[in-house]
Amino acid sequence: MANLRIPGPTPCPPEVLAAAAGEMINHRGPEFAALLERVSSGVQPFFGTEQEVLLISASGTGAMEAAITSTLSPGDAVLAVSVGSFGDRFATIAETYGADVTRVGVEWGTAATPEVVAEAIGERDYRALLITHNETSTGVTNPVGEIAAAVKEVADPLILVDCVSSLGSIPMEMDEWGLDAVVTASQKGWLSPPGIAMAALSERGWAATETSTMPSFYFDLGKHHEYATRGQPPWTPTLPVLYAMDAALPLMAAEGPEAIYAKHHRFASWTRNVARALGLELLAEERYASDTVTAVRVPEEIAVGDLSRLLREEHDVVIAAGQGKLATSIFRIGHLGWLDEEEMAACFAALQSALTALGFGPAADARIPGIGPR
Ligand SMILES: *Cc1c(COP(=O)(O)O)cnc(C)c1O
Repeated sequence: MANLRIPGPTPCPPEVLAAAAGEMINHRGPEFAALLERVSSGVQPFFGTEQEVLLISASGTGAMEAAITSTLSPGDAVLAVSVGSFGDRFATIAETYGADVTRVGVEWGTAATPEVVAEAIGERDYRALLITHNETSTGVTNPVGEIAAAVKEVADPLILVDCVSSLGSIPMEMDEWGLDAVVTASQKGWLSPPGIAMAALSERGWAATETSTMPSFYFDLGKHHEYATRGQPPWTPTLPVLYAMDAALPLMAAEGPEAIYAKHHRFASWTRNVARALGLELLAEERYASDTVTAVRVPEEIAVGDLSRLLREEHDVVIAAGQGKLATSIFRIGHLGWLDEEEMAACFAALQSALTALGFGPAADARIPGIGPR
């Protein structure tokens, strides 16, 4: 089996995959209502919210779209803070549905700071702020809690946050930070296959659904909420993925959020230490480096396509290429969800071997560090 080191979909524990193969049930029956309740309450602690978490059968982009179309109206002034390609996607969805979007960008590899966002939000009467918690394309985590606090000093927009590749792996305090929509998806930090997106709205977010006039049907969160009160989804759900999550969440609960966050931090630091030991440069500033994905600059003498091909064909290790304007200048290593020390070590050994084979001198004699003490 391949050593899948991309930032989603991520590897799943065998018992989770076995659960996904379960027999179908009536999604309008009592068994489903109980399943929905277990999964929804199982993910809730990781959101840091008292609000209900809605489960939507879609990938993460569906929940991003749901958050926008359920709370906003065409013509609404929206500030979209983007630090990479997923931030751009969030802005594009809002534009697609007719929002009046102003984009604020930073150099890819850096984070949005509270100062920059607070200054931008003060320039106009914005209805909403869109921001990415963890930018998977660059391996950067925005300090969303600090940003929200700085924004609230100057204005009062709805704050919609793409937490697709952070939730379940990186701390999130939706209620404490005053966020109005938080969305994630099953195939990132949740030890589960793709197919379930999750969304939670604050009270203010729910109030916004009453006045929102953007068109929405499949992703209308009001409809999802109305059905969820009866223990049902509005449409036929991806049952196998819910079965998988139902098996994964007890594993996550047994480990506990704090231990899971600490483990992700440890694996991320290890990954960065190994990259540096191999003579590679990291894209993200250390201070904002992500605990779920690491972006590494491709050495000048190497073509990234050769590196990923060699890793795949000779070592059965699958890494992710860069996205958009970073397509050929970086590669990315995912370290989220179900983390295994041996698999990571095998990935690092393969990386050293492939870099050496491609003539990248500094890797040849490097000593790869261990993960270090807990
Ligand atoms: C993976 C991801 C998404 C959603 O992608 P899907 O393919 O729709 O699941 C959105 N934002 C971020 C930051 C992501 O990492």
